[in-house]
Amino acid sequence: MTDYPHLLAPLDLGFTTLKNRVLMGSMHTNLEETGDWNRVAEFYAARARGGVALMVTGGIAPNREGGVFPGAAGLFADKDVANHQIVTQRVHDAGGKIAMQILHAGRYAYGPECVAPSPVKSPISPFPPRELDEEGIEKQINDIVTAAVRAREAGYDGVEIMGSEGYFINQFLVTHTNKRTDRWGGSYENRMRLPIEIVRRTRAAVGADFILIYRLSMIDLIPNGSTFDEVVQLARAIEAAGATILNTGIGWHEARVPTIATSVPRRAFAWVTKKLMGQVGIPVITSNRINMPDVAEDVLAEGCADMVSMARPFLADPDFVNKAAAGRADRIAPCIACNQACLDHTFGGKLTSCLVNPRACHETELVLTPAKTPKTLAVVGAGPAGLSAAITAAERGHAVTLFDRADQVGGQLNMAKKVPGKEEFWGLVDWFATMASDAGVTLRLGTEVTADDLTGFDDVILATGVTPRDPQIPGQDGENVLGYIDVLRHEARVGDSVAVIGAGGIGFDVSEYLVHAGESPTENLPEWMREWGVTDPGETRGGLAPEGPRPEAPARAVTLLQRKAEKPGKRLGKTTGWIHRAALQMKNVKMKAGVNYERIDAQGLHISYGEARERPEVIACDTIVLCAGQVSDRTLADALQERGVSCHVIGGADVAAELDAKRAIDQGTRLAATL
Ligand code: NAP
Ligand code: SF4
Repeated sequence: MTDYPHLLAPLDLGFTTLKNRVLMGSMHTNLEETGDWNRVAEFYAARARGGVALMVTGGIAPNREGGVFPGAAGLFADKDVANHQIVTQRVHDAGGKIAMQILHAGRYAYGPECVAPSPVKSPISPFPPRELDEEGIEKQINDIVTAAVRAREAGYDGVEIMGSEGYFINQFLVTHTNKRTDRWGGSYENRMRLPIEIVRRTRAAVGADFILIYRLSMIDLIPNGSTFDEVVQLARAIEAAGATILNTGIGWHEARVPTIATSVPRRAFAWVTKKLMGQVGIPVITSNRINMPDVAEDVLAEGCADMVSMARPFLADPDFVNKAAAGRADRIAPCIACNQACLDHTFGGKLTSCLVNPRACHETELVLTPAKTPKTLAVVGAGPAGLSAAITAAERGHAVTLFDRADQVGGQLNMAKKVPGKEEFWGLVDWFATMASDAGVTLRLGTEVTADDLTGFDDVILATGVTPRDPQIPGQDGENVLGYIDVLRHEARVGDSVAVIGAGGIGFDVSEYLVHAGESPTENLPEWMREWGVTDPGETRGGLAPEGPRPEAPARAVTLLQRKAEKPGKRLGKTTGWIHRAALQMKNVKMKAGVNYERIDAQGLHISYGEARERPEVIACDTIVLCAGQVSDRTLADALQERGVSCHVIGGADVAAELDAKRAIDQGTRLAATL
């Protein structure tokens, strides 16, 4: 008997059967753009072997004007078909099914050729779109239908037509972006003509035995978005036009509500999909922040949907479904929804990967094989770098001893998990502990090692991490000054008014920690919805509360400072920085940039501005928290060097600047792959 009877139940689509209720949602990886189709194929084949029922590719453009950026992968020409055949063949050989997503970006296309129903520029692109005429609209429909026909020729089991997230089709549906007065605009019947025509003509062109998923925006999260009555009306029309499955889209890309970040509660939008259940006869998929089998099982058991879509969890662990089916869910590498190696890379023009799984999209290049000569290895430091190195090395057959002076594994992750909105880090630390135990790593916790303890090993890896940088501010040894470790690890008492010195990742985290009291909104969906102004789209267009965001009052008055004269938080994650800034602004955190720290005394923090040290000011506060960055802890490395013992130095002990768990895990895994 499985713990996941709903999740693992097959789904009969009439002409074909899906082996379980798990869809790997579309993710743009930038792999196709490498031109290495073997690499693309291996990425999908690994997930097919891992047991997922159906996968959707990253968005494939139907024509040049519809590409998300110039040069985006497309299926414009018959010659592209052969490349895609490499992928579909490999997936089918692995026992999987795969649908190709057809993505027309409309005014979100990052290029001067972009087109849209009306010339309304998007707030997230500098390019004003060209308004399409009747002929232009017909061309777009034909190109989408042609792409679907080519997808079938290429061996795909189906297509997903991207109708949500504010892309081209979505832009026709709402008056926010559709100002037309012809048969494609005006009434809702006219505005939904485009998706219906696309689905109707696609079905006619591809035949009856081809999966046609339509991704429908069920809550737009923008002003003047769709009402839920319109969503239902569209869903029924799309069903009648020939769709096989409806998938859920949540929020336009320009929405100012986070929809997939780690601070969004798990399964935060399953209730929206549930509203559509029973309104249509075809299966409905739900999505967003479903990252573990128990969450997915609950969503299905509660009747929120017929299937679940998970995307990033398949970057973190390609074997997600097989592990769930085998009763080994605690071995699933958890997606912590950080976006650091996936979306931040994708939007930065880099190859997608995964913070917890550096092999994601690097399957053909980062290959882990059994060690030719098993060795004895000492790894010092059980943070993410040391853990990754130790586990990977042990899995390859080395005898690994992992030391840490702390009495638990996880290093700095144990501070991150205390921050409201970062609860997913608990699961990551637990997973590391489970995997270390599985791999047979010998743990020596609560052990302060010296160079002498490390002499008997074949190889030594130092992952001793970082220590806080000393900002050398006069008066910083006063009783009103704390370090971030005092606050996050030791939960030291902090006063009601606080100045936070340093607006890097940790300064933002500490501020977030200090302005919250009680339960984190990430653990309390109604409160999170109130905080971000989300409501039922059945009550208000687009699901935006008329009264706007209503956050709880801040627990403390916080001022966050930095010396650089740039916008605080500018260097945080590309896709999540705005969320951190908005979250703190909602809690009235004052942000000050371009400051000099003059001194600290009983009054608080004395600052001035600019090179001329002008405009002296006192930040009157009870507590000052130092978050001034970090320096490498190389004490042990230096001691070993003196004894002539060679060692590998990784993670923060190697380079402290811009250290994050992504770099630490990647470096640890890659080193261990070579030993
Ligand atoms: P950081 O991001 O390098 O920020 C250090 C902060 O300290 C900066 O604001 C810097 O700004 C300030 N600073 C540097 N030298 C200083 C000095 N001598 N005196 C006073 N202020 C000084 O480091 P962090 O905040 O410790 O974070 C460490 C790493 O953890 C980051 O690289 C980050 O990637 C990772 N992290 C990431 C997240 C995330 O959300 N993705 C969250 C937490 C941590 P000024 O020089 O302008 O004053
Ligand atoms: Fe999930 Fe972060 Fe990995 Fe992206 S990088 S898949 S969000 S864990």
